[in-house]
Amino acid sequence: MNIVAIDIGGTEIKYGSVSTGGEVIFSSSLQTEASKGVEQLLEKIFRIVEELKNDRTIGIAVSATGQIDGKIGKVVGGTNLIPGWIGTNLVQILEDKYGLPAVLENDVNCAALGEMWMGAAAGKENFICLTIGTGIGGGVILNGELLRGEGSVAAEFGHIQIVKNGVQCGCGNKGCYQGYASTTALLRMAEEKFSKKLNGREIFEEVHKNNVEYKELVHEWADYFTDGLATLIYIFNPSLVVIGGGVSKQGDFLKNIFQKSLEQKVMKNYLDILDIKMAERGNDAGMLGASHLLLKKIK
Ligand SMILES: [Zn+2]
Repeated sequence: MNIVAIDIGGTEIKYGSVSTGGEVIFSSSLQTEASKGVEQLLEKIFRIVEELKNDRTIGIAVSATGQIDGKIGKVVGGTNLIPGWIGTNLVQILEDKYGLPAVLENDVNCAALGEMWMGAAAGKENFICLTIGTGIGGGVILNGELLRGEGSVAAEFGHIQIVKNGVQCGCGNKGCYQGYASTTALLRMAEEKFSKKLNGREIFEEVHKNNVEYKELVHEWADYFTDGLATLIYIFNPSLVVIGGGVSKQGDFLKNIFQKSLEQKVMKNYLDILDIKMAERGNDAGMLGASHLLLKKIK
């Protein structure tokens, strides 16, 4: 038995075949070409399903960027990265076309579920997941269940305001968390400080060479990150924070910076039971989490 799993990102679509036991049997990827719009994206999804589907396929599991109502499998909001994507009821389209059960859920929610099923959060019932990238995405698992909220768009951590009258955000507000603690924010802060464009890898290379100015920069950025995280810890009292996105490759080095910074901000009894881990399933987490949801739907 297998599941056709698809993870739609802004630049890349990852797809593959996942076993009911949580093993990624096959995986590949192609370019999203988001600007070409939803019709072209649907064509790609159909091609993937037709390539991978066989008589042992039990359903189609899709993780995707944007604000998604996972209860019905419809895109309900987000930026207009993929023209026409908002309003698409992908689950209905796939179920009607293939006669197989399907699910669609937000990518960070899927990453949280994937890490719970087969990764860093195995065995955890109360944890939060943050992905640090262009923005900051969030996922919350409470008592073993995904927290969706009434409109299914809970845990949009990136838009919590942490600075009054701060950097303009795409959401319309100023001073959002992701304007200070995303990778984009780190690069902006680096450019302001050093008057040159750097990428994340170059910044961390300098830090590992013990370059004091770069270390200061990363600590300043991490301080913003834990400003938001401290609030989340007080709300959810989690046993684990899973951090995903490109910077998670920095591993224990970054984890220790976050941990030390949190010690200045959060009461000890919250931290005593709290673990911070970098995401373990990287590229597979979205496909795994969506597959986990599909199995639950079929049950
Ligand atoms: Zn915002």
